[in-house]
Amino acid sequence: MKIRKYFRGSGRVLAFVFIASVIWLLFDMAALRLSMSDNSSVLLKQRVVKERLIMKSQTTKMTLERRGGFKNPVQRVDYEGKDNVQLLDRVAGAYRRQHKEMGKGGKNKVNGDSLVLKRSKEAVPDFITLSPKLNLSEPIKDSVDIKVAQDSLINVTGPVVVTKALKLQPVVQENKHAPLPTARKDFQHTGNRSVVHVDPKVNKQVKEDPKAKSAKQGNEDSHIAKKHDLTKNKKQDNIISKRDFNATKEAGEPKPNQALDSLAKPVLAGRSRVHKVYALDVTSAPRDPKAVGQNGKVALVPSDKQAESKSRWAEGHFNVFLSDQIPLDRAIPDTRPKTCSDSVVHNDLPSTSVIFCFVDEVWSTLLRSVHSVLNRSPPHLLEEIILVDDCSTKAYLGKQLDEYMKKLPKVRIIRLKERQGLIRARLEGAAVAKGKVLTFLDSHVECNVGWLEPLLERVYLDRKKVVCPVIEVISSTDMSYVMVDNFQRGVFTWPLGFAWNTLSEEQIKKDKVNVSDPLRCPVMAGGLFSIDKSYFYELGAYDPGLDVWGGENMEISFKIWMCGGEIEIIPCSRVGHIFRGENPYKFPKNRQKTIQRNQARVAEVWLDEYKELFYGHGFHHLLDRSAVDIGDLTEQVALRQRLNCTSFKWYLDNVHPEIESHLVKAEGLVGPTCQNFNYTWLRLLNQQDVCLSVQEEEQSKVALIPCDATKPMQRWFYKAAGSSMVRWLLG
Ligand code: UDP
Ligand code: MN
Repeated sequence: MKIRKYFRGSGRVLAFVFIASVIWLLFDMAALRLSMSDNSSVLLKQRVVKERLIMKSQTTKMTLERRGGFKNPVQRVDYEGKDNVQLLDRVAGAYRRQHKEMGKGGKNKVNGDSLVLKRSKEAVPDFITLSPKLNLSEPIKDSVDIKVAQDSLINVTGPVVVTKALKLQPVVQENKHAPLPTARKDFQHTGNRSVVHVDPKVNKQVKEDPKAKSAKQGNEDSHIAKKHDLTKNKKQDNIISKRDFNATKEAGEPKPNQALDSLAKPVLAGRSRVHKVYALDVTSAPRDPKAVGQNGKVALVPSDKQAESKSRWAEGHFNVFLSDQIPLDRAIPDTRPKTCSDSVVHNDLPSTSVIFCFVDEVWSTLLRSVHSVLNRSPPHLLEEIILVDDCSTKAYLGKQLDEYMKKLPKVRIIRLKERQGLIRARLEGAAVAKGKVLTFLDSHVECNVGWLEPLLERVYLDRKKVVCPVIEVISSTDMSYVMVDNFQRGVFTWPLGFAWNTLSEEQIKKDKVNVSDPLRCPVMAGGLFSIDKSYFYELGAYDPGLDVWGGENMEISFKIWMCGGEIEIIPCSRVGHIFRGENPYKFPKNRQKTIQRNQARVAEVWLDEYKELFYGHGFHHLLDRSAVDIGDLTEQVALRQRLNCTSFKWYLDNVHPEIESHLVKAEGLVGPTCQNFNYTWLRLLNQQDVCLSVQEEEQSKVALIPCDATKPMQRWFYKAAGSSMVRWLLG
């Protein structure tokens, strides 16, 4: 009788705690016994210990990601087991180093092995000047003087490119960027400049559309060339294209169209028609070497403007004051690996529509993004720029933007009447795009020289390749352009957080990976990529049920890999992006809930049994569908079936083997039952479909019943009490 008393009311809870503790102790002891007697269990134990470590480290990494600096490539996940303190130090170290080099004086010493940022010490902007009256996107109407910088490496004199048919921008510059001394030691700058006169009458004589011409000639061999990956055949091609450029020079006085010809005319190389990647950089006026932030240099806020700069920070969550001072067509250092300028691409590359979605973007960054595309893309490959205004509230993004963009014929604006969020805004842009390839970019980027062709080349070689440029860092504080480390790939960590990871030394050696080789990328960062338009739709585009921001990069990445495509990072294509710690726009609903809901949709459709890892790593509450509505998934599930996609396990094994993804946290004998159980990420103690559950009627007893992770009676919570003592409590 007395004993029974203890099982009433609060005594019952205490009794349960006691019993549960005993079960756990037995469980632990059993596991220990097992580990001593059984060889294979040693491995198991190691795995469990490792899992715990990983879980611990990933939790910290997640915190790091959530705290801010979304998807910044200097925030990397390290699979080599270095602990988090080190990781955090490395990130902080990288920033400190950056500041130190910028002359701000970092207090802490950083050891060199973790250097992830390299900066240009000296900035000598090379530039091409045009009459300031010229409109960049229109054919030249009047005779103008054009100063052209000469390049000792390529020997192009007077590359004047003007044609109505192509709507080429008036000036083309080959490889004219001040190098990053650290990366480009072999760069020789002659400083010679020649003046070329453009005669509009001669320009009008350009009758044949070089785009059509190049397509015609290219087609003859394209089926052979396509099979034949050009990145592996650079040497031969280079020699031939260089000869062609020299021939242009040797022909004497540059005629107005000559340089255009050297651009548009296919160059015979082996059996395919290719040309060296164009390094275009157009400006509408001479670049002022002393301009704020010129050549990607650190910009400083004068002491009397500190308050103003501070007060404007929230407009974009970066230094808006400085951004407004920086020229819209500033030069940035050419940070490509040095072989990139010699690499060749096909003449008949597909054209692209560049899609910028934005909501309340800062004026100067939006315009700088647009100009960087216009100025550094071969015009015949740039079908259009589509600006999708996701219902911005700022007045300047209305009429003022319309007026400005009217002057740029390639740019069109789509206005969404209701805020749709990044994902649906992109879908709206894609729906009206005319280019064969879609290129999505964030609205605060700067495309670097030669950025576009290497992307299009990969899509051309295989339409199922989805390609991303290397995303470099435009500092949110001083707006400097910062080169990032090589060999970085996008990965995910549980529960579906995004991180950067550097390819290991062994892998680089084993696969003989070159700095300019495309890298297979398990997960794209999301903001910047090119995809064949028809393939995008074949894949079902984005899940339109994803709201505002977040999770869409996982969705499209899993979909691409699991349904027959590939994602690559192309080191020869580089685009700077302002990473910021906070979204400057509002989320119509709660931010955290919106992102988690998006992620749950992705997990439900794509992760198969591994979705337990997603929920088990902190998103348990999302399992309760009566509290969290993640929307209808019928179409997404049907799409996956229709596309005949592989399993998530295949993806993990083949694309992302580095991430530890064990389906159970632990396994072993549970004392009183003397049976083997799994301890799952959802905190269930299960044997196949049945789980150990506290009995509703009599909570001191446990029973085996069908598993249901939403039932608290089935969840067993592991609690480490700081010492060796461990207890299981009802979760
Ligand atoms: N964006 C949008 N609608 C939204 C949220 C974002 O059009 O509801 C745009 C935003 O202006 C930016 C891009 O989507 O150009 C990516 O957003 P953001 O830069 O905030 O993402 P991050 O780079 O931080 O991942
Ligand atoms: Mn962004």
